[in-house]
Amino acid sequence: MTSATPLAGASLWHAQAHMPTALAKRVTIVGGRGATVITADGAELLDAPAGLWYANVGHGREAVARVAYEQMLKLETYHVFGRFVNDVALTLADRVTALGPIPDAKVFWTSGGSDSVDLACKLARRHWQLEGRPDKRIILSRNNAYHGLHGFGTSIAGLEYNREGYGSDSLIPETARIPANDLAGAEAVIAELGPERIAAVVAEPVIGTGGVIAPAPGYLEGLQRLARQHDILFIADEVITGFGRTGTMFACERFGLEPDMVLMAKGITSGYAPLGGVLISPRVWARFFSSDDAPILRHGITYSGHATACAVAHANIDILEQEHLLERSAELEGVLHNAIQPLADHPLVAEVRSGTGFLAGVQLRADVPGEAVVDACLDAGLLTRVIHNNTLHICPPFVVTDDEVSFIAKTVRVALDQFTA
Ligand code: PMP
Repeated sequence: MTSATPLAGASLWHAQAHMPTALAKRVTIVGGRGATVITADGAELLDAPAGLWYANVGHGREAVARVAYEQMLKLETYHVFGRFVNDVALTLADRVTALGPIPDAKVFWTSGGSDSVDLACKLARRHWQLEGRPDKRIILSRNNAYHGLHGFGTSIAGLEYNREGYGSDSLIPETARIPANDLAGAEAVIAELGPERIAAVVAEPVIGTGGVIAPAPGYLEGLQRLARQHDILFIADEVITGFGRTGTMFACERFGLEPDMVLMAKGITSGYAPLGGVLISPRVWARFFSSDDAPILRHGITYSGHATACAVAHANIDILEQEHLLERSAELEGVLHNAIQPLADHPLVAEVRSGTGFLAGVQLRADVPGEAVVDACLDAGLLTRVIHNNTLHICPPFVVTDDEVSFIAKTVRVALDQFTA
């Protein structure tokens, strides 16, 4: 399954890839059922990363496909610019705002996570402009954070290699990093920059791409408190955690957070269509909705509120509810934690991070060839991949069985054993 590059498809530039390696070791997926995907060579692989953290309800759902088909026949989409909208964007807005952690929220639909990040950062700056505090422009993010790779996401990246190489200090000026899990450190950065210059702080409840890093106890609550104290908007990036990954619909619920904005994508459709959104609190939306001279938010994307994507999101949330998949995710958190933690004893493992949400990172020692370990896993029927800090990415669909979770841990151990000799 990692055989030499077939000629076909040589024209594709992969995302975030060292292309010579990617072309030599390309893995082409052609099918999927539940927690399993099928390669072009016919191999069946357990999809441990759920695609890119998105396949929460699993692959191959006929009910979702039918909804997409019916919606496309009726109306593929109609945009939501100006006074025009489509009916599905409206019903999904009411449904998702009711499920979200912000009382009386509005939602602005986007095409994905990076879009949601860009909108939230723009809106934070716009908010303070309209408040008569135009100096509040700095966007804070945590070290190790991943917030997509559009303009703002690139600029606020907590992974240096995603931020660097585009000239000047940062693609978009006026961003700064805080330590990922140290409140005193965050407070020091705020004091140094001056809260009167800071617009917002963006945080993933559980850091994903940065290596699966859970919040220290009290950290997120404390960060929200700091933000409130200093009149800084608090933005939760729930692109990974939203729609059940931490056992509640949103991680904000689990950690008792009530942010000014919540970013969504991925799990809102489980990957069946590209869709993202930003939940926005009354503090931020009120002035845009209130009076004849309300300002216009100069933002929009052709596929904001794409009708077929929104219909698919409805079908996806139906499945989460009908199959009690949030409860199952909460249960699987413990199953995965128990199965994966013993790997911490392995001589090639630096650290195993698990137990906060149904996701885990197995960090290999720096001298272990992570991609070769991935090869060994692929050969044994397990798809995983290397994320930041030589960490194996594990966050399966919510439809995996307990046995499949055991299989993940067992297969990683056997793969690692091949490199101990
Ligand atoms: N925020 C977080 C926390 C993410 O994990 C991601 C994607 N991995 C994004 C934003 C960007 O989302 P997208 O790739 O859909 O633009």
